[in-house]
Amino acid sequence: MSRDKKIIIGNFKMNLNVHESSLYLHTLAGMVKPRRNVEVVLAPTTLAIQSLSLQVSHRQFKLAAQNFYWRDHGPYTGEVSATMLRGIVKYGLVGHSERRHVFHESDKDIRDKVQAAIRNGIRPVLCIGETAAERADGETQHALHDQLVGGLANVTSDELEQVIIAYEPVWAIGTGQNAVPSDVTAAIQAIRNHISHLYGKPAAEFAQVLYGGSVTASTAADYLALPDVDGLLVGGASLDAHAFTQIIELAHQSGSGEEEL
Ligand code: PEP
Repeated sequence: MSRDKKIIIGNFKMNLNVHESSLYLHTLAGMVKPRRNVEVVLAPTTLAIQSLSLQVSHRQFKLAAQNFYWRDHGPYTGEVSATMLRGIVKYGLVGHSERRHVFHESDKDIRDKVQAAIRNGIRPVLCIGETAAERADGETQHALHDQLVGGLANVTSDELEQVIIAYEPVWAIGTGQNAVPSDVTAAIQAIRNHISHLYGKPAAEFAQVLYGGSVTASTAADYLALPDVDGLLVGGASLDAHAFTQIIELAHQSGSGEEEL
């Protein structure tokens, strides 16, 4: 997918049960106009993915898994694999800060999940970002570098096209404290530099990089106006159909101004 198309992902986290997700999708579907220059992605609870995939208009919305295990099958009680999600979701979040910090996922877990997604035809959305302490210590660039190298360790140049990077400063997620646009540009340029060192300049220019962290309908336009930002990963505001629809329209307006689908 080219960088002309903005990607807006709504991460419902552990909110909205199967019934509520279905009602929400119904409401959203009545509000969001399908646009050629915006890909709208919904990441509901795993339990609702199957039923939403039958309800959703795939022209209007794509689905993402919030999480999955890296093995394809086997004795892993309670887990859902990328193989099981294959064909149902187009995207899978990997390395979200809540997975890293609440569930203590390691760089190895994250790199294995990136591989599992690619192996199963799912585009991994690799989330990376510095903590408040790393930021205060001037360690943002190192943290981003280490998480990128860790997550992409087994990804070939050809496979890199499948990967989306989401820059999500940990201190900005769910806190209402969003990063200033100049800091986002600096971080995403650092990310592109790291990709350039690992895979070459064309790969860095081609890479799709999103911003996430307390984005609202009032702040979305500031990020979408940044040339290095290819879309947004939205948590809390994606649960409000009006706010999320506004963010999607702002993405459409910030793009190349194409017609409705
Ligand atoms: C997220 O879930 O990735 C996120 C950025 O959440 P919020 O928008 O609520 O900060």
